[in-house]
Amino acid sequence: MKQFFAFLLPLLLLSGCAETEGGPQTAQIFAMDTVMDFTVYGPSAAEAIGASTQEIQRLEQLLSRTIETSEVSRLNASAGKEEETTEEVSSLLKEAVRLSASTGGAFDITVAPLASAWGFTEAEYRVPTKEEIGRLLPLVDSSRIRITGQQVELPDGAAIDLGGIAKGYASDQVARTLQAHGVESAIISLGGNVYAKGAKPGGDPWRVAVRDPGDPADYVGMLLLEDAYAVTSGGYQRYFEQAGHIYHHIIDPSTGYPADSGLTSVTVVSSSGTVCDALSTALFVLGEQGAVDLWDGADWDRGFDMVLVTEDGRVLITAGLADRFEPKEGSAYVYETLS
Ligand code: AMP
Ligand code: MG
Repeated sequence: MKQFFAFLLPLLLLSGCAETEGGPQTAQIFAMDTVMDFTVYGPSAAEAIGASTQEIQRLEQLLSRTIETSEVSRLNASAGKEEETTEEVSSLLKEAVRLSASTGGAFDITVAPLASAWGFTEAEYRVPTKEEIGRLLPLVDSSRIRITGQQVELPDGAAIDLGGIAKGYASDQVARTLQAHGVESAIISLGGNVYAKGAKPGGDPWRVAVRDPGDPADYVGMLLLEDAYAVTSGGYQRYFEQAGHIYHHIIDPSTGYPADSGLTSVTVVSSSGTVCDALSTALFVLGEQGAVDLWDGADWDRGFDMVLVTEDGRVLITAGLADRFEPKEGSAYVYETLS
């Protein structure tokens, strides 16, 4: 099996223990610009991992902004003209536009020109001038994307970047793949987008650490998850430093600058990977009060849970996680429950 995967997917490191009855198959791949880990139990675990990694690679070819032949690149290259897309891409774009509207624009895939200006797209980091940001800001408005069936038209000069939602969408697709292979127990992490399928084989919930944004080798607490998605957005995940300033990759669509909202990380727990991914990015932009208002507001009606870590050393947990979150013992953070 090891050789089969090594041949088929050169980046896949399969280190399963198929000989050990009941042991998991584990694998690590690099895709969508991030490290992805799989731990899958059951007789079809190896096949399920193989199919999942193929699915992720298929999605990367479709959704990446840096792969010239992707559908997203084709749309970006033909902004101002109507383009036919696959049903899958037009549906995902509709969902992204909907999530932008229901986060007051804090999540917006049309931040693409700004993500590029800051150098995050090609990892060639730079600080744009105020004038440059002012010029690009009017291009950020996903409500101007026209989607009719599978016909999509981006406004002239606009571009989209699915970096804030694609891994979450991929985790939903991996969940379907695992289900189709009859897997009952698994945990996957697509660069911090976690999906916990079922419980651990013994019946205990999966334990997922929420990293300490101040020291990502450490953690602030453990989530106990069963059949749930958990996605974290944080400035510490991608950033550069210039002249003593730290500039991270989550852009506030209202200013064009990296979000500076007083939060250092946001973890969202819900029953959809796509929603978790878009929401964690949005809440990071919105800050503590905006996040709490959204969670408690009529649109979302507490339809997700979250863990907010603040710059001033607090960890805020929504009531739905009260018995699914264990603070780290001896931590210097102050823990509060939002109810
Ligand atoms: P995430 O890691 O899911 O929080 O998403 C961050 C990535 O999404 C960035 O690397 C950009 O590609 C893109 N992005 C940055 N800011 C936003 C935003 N406000 N809304 C949507 N996508 C964004
Ligand atoms: Mg996201």
